[in-house]
Amino acid sequence: MTLLVLGDQLSFDYLAALGGVPGRDTILMVEDPLLVARRPYHRKKIVLVWSAMRHFAQECHTAGWEVVYARGGSLADLLAQVQGECVCIQPREKGIRPLLQASNVRIVPDPYWSVTPAEFAAWLIVHPNPKLEDFYRWRRRVSGVLMEAKKPVGGAWNYDKENRKPFPKTHQPIPRFIVPPDTITQEVMQEVAQLPKLTGSVEGFDFPVTRMQAQALLTDFIAQRLALFGPYEDAMSAKDPYGYHSLLSLPLNLSLLSPQECVQAALDALAQGTAPLASVEGFVRQILGWREFLYQLYEAFPGDYHQANALGQNNPLPEFYWSGDTPMHCLSHVVRQVLESGYSHHIERLMILGNFALLAGVSPSALNEWFWCCYLDAYDWVVTPNVIGMSQFADGGWVATKPYISSGAYISRMSNYCKECVFDPKDATSESACPFTTLYWAFLIERETDAPLSGRMAQNYFGLRGKSLEERAAILERKKGLQKLR
Ligand SMILES: Cc1cc2nc3c(=O)[nH]c(=O)nc-3n(C[C@H](O)[C@H](O)[C@H](O)COP(=O)(O)OP(=O)(O)OC[C@H]3O[C@@H](n4cnc5c(N)ncnc54)[C@H](O)[C@@H]3O)c2cc1C
Ligand code: SF4
Repeated sequence: MTLLVLGDQLSFDYLAALGGVPGRDTILMVEDPLLVARRPYHRKKIVLVWSAMRHFAQECHTAGWEVVYARGGSLADLLAQVQGECVCIQPREKGIRPLLQASNVRIVPDPYWSVTPAEFAAWLIVHPNPKLEDFYRWRRRVSGVLMEAKKPVGGAWNYDKENRKPFPKTHQPIPRFIVPPDTITQEVMQEVAQLPKLTGSVEGFDFPVTRMQAQALLTDFIAQRLALFGPYEDAMSAKDPYGYHSLLSLPLNLSLLSPQECVQAALDALAQGTAPLASVEGFVRQILGWREFLYQLYEAFPGDYHQANALGQNNPLPEFYWSGDTPMHCLSHVVRQVLESGYSHHIERLMILGNFALLAGVSPSALNEWFWCCYLDAYDWVVTPNVIGMSQFADGGWVATKPYISSGAYISRMSNYCKECVFDPKDATSESACPFTTLYWAFLIERETDAPLSGRMAQNYFGLRGKSLEERAAILERKKGLQKLR
């Protein structure tokens, strides 16, 4: 039997789920040249995937497996040469599935998801307007995670009120867990540095590429960051790109770690008293809740998710998303950081990069392509529902209950970006008005009669009622003057 292992399926649990036996079966792995041909991905992303694949192939070989590892070549051609049965874990990306079907590859369910597509389909019948909260409580009840006698541990399902704080003035960044590149990674870095038409540089690549390194990252996160993860989940700082975030999306999305073990590690910290419930619950919600919820919604989305555009937004992506060259300090800083490292945390993705694009009427698919190219953890199944759904509301509310938009006041409250900016976050109309603030009010004014939106955003529209006709006209006038920021 041949076990096809895709680039994001680097798990010995998967080999067991496929029923493989070392010494009897063969593992087939292919460095897909399409990965670099499809779009101008970040070079560090290619290094991450190829280095992790080469390390995994080596570990399998050491464990007694016969491994056929193709550097380049067409997967279709390689599959055509396979003798006997070929099996593969259900790929998360929909794009590759027709090829596997045409090649008669037998598909085995992915044990890292807690819900099967059939179970989720049945749940959707009862919840036709799916909400994270309902899904999350369902998964907590079924798994027993943070449950006691059928009630949530601590008496509440979430502790958001205790969370969502900005960093205090005394905040000091914790050094990030880094993995100096070994010989295999250095080799990949040299190869990828030569590839044309990609984004960013390979220089400074220092992320986990093996399961052992990923486990060490998890241990480091639990020891150093989890305790304060909850309170500062939404905090942003120009001096600290990571805060108390884990960076676990990189190894999780390659299957170097399972979501179950990440949740268990947080539960152990709670049991040992090294992290409070508010932080542990906040982290569990991200993995057991958001991560799986978005995957299931990606699977179940009716139609082509990439083209969804419920708000009819068609402006091109501003050029500064590829350079960071803009006077808006928050955007300039975060864009440069992403182009350099391939990472920013959730709130910067949602409330700076996504927020601006939504307020500026950018085409959701153009923004999705940008995220897909630039982030090291981006794969269709997770980037698309996050960008098209959560961030741009372009799926009409399949993922999010309302558009995530804010004025500069939110960014000012949650970060220190505004202190070094030429714009004033409180101002919507003058020459020094913060573009977020102008565009936020303009968005509400222009969509005031947009019933599906106004119904979901009552609080935002309530604020608009206090604006006089003159003020509204001045906001729209200022918006015209912002065209040059593109
Ligand atoms: C516009 C936008 C684009 C995004 N694109 C991606 C993407 O390409 N790949 C990706 O993995 N995540 C994406 N996310 C979700 C989230 O921002 C990242 O998972 C998170 O920032 C990864 O950093 P971390 O590991 O430090 O996260 P932490 O804050 O430490 O969270 C822990 C884990 O929870 C999971 N998680 C939390 N929120 C989400 C979510 N909304 N969707 C999926 N998993 C979640 C991740 O696995 C993450 O590692 C996106 C969010 C937005 C708003
Ligand atoms: S003032 Fe506006 S543009 Fe400047 S950093 Fe603050 S939110 Fe960003």
